[in-house]
Amino acid sequence: MSLRRVPIHDVSSLDDVLDLVVASGPDARGGPVLIFDADNTLAPQGAPRDEFASLVNGAIDRFEALPNVARVIVLSNGPERGVSRMISRGNKPWTTRRRLGLDTGASIIVVGDQILTDGILAWRFGGMFIHLVFDKEREAARQAALRAIGRFVTTLLFRRKP
Ligand SMILES: [Mg+2]
Repeated sequence: MSLRRVPIHDVSSLDDVLDLVVASGPDARGGPVLIFDADNTLAPQGAPRDEFASLVNGAIDRFEALPNVARVIVLSNGPERGVSRMISRGNKPWTTRRRLGLDTGASIIVVGDQILTDGILAWRFGGMFIHLVFDKEREAARQAALRAIGRFVTTLLFRRKP
């Protein structure tokens, strides 16, 4: 069986993500749809509630302002934390386009720090994965271990642009 591989880009800041999204240009349907992870992507793991809300809302505002972006979704597997614009307990990587209200044709970019949740979601949706790791030094051991496991599936599911 051969697997269809999707593009992956490794970046270290939201500014890099912005540059990639701008460079990708609009698709035929006025997209893409951006799906962001929250923890360790838009906010440091364990950020205080107020800081978390302000970082998540700030990122949504910033990316929604781009003319070539159809929609911005923040999808966390974590608990509800009082940010009404974010989807909590999001069941990554197994959630569906239907549950997120996306048509089958919408092109999708997933941005996140974890291959095994965010990356596999991008792969399932046939989208692009932007792998954002901004704080390798201070991340919790569990996050680092998960990311190390994720490296094994990377070559199977993703292709890096030369
Ligand atoms: Mg994360």
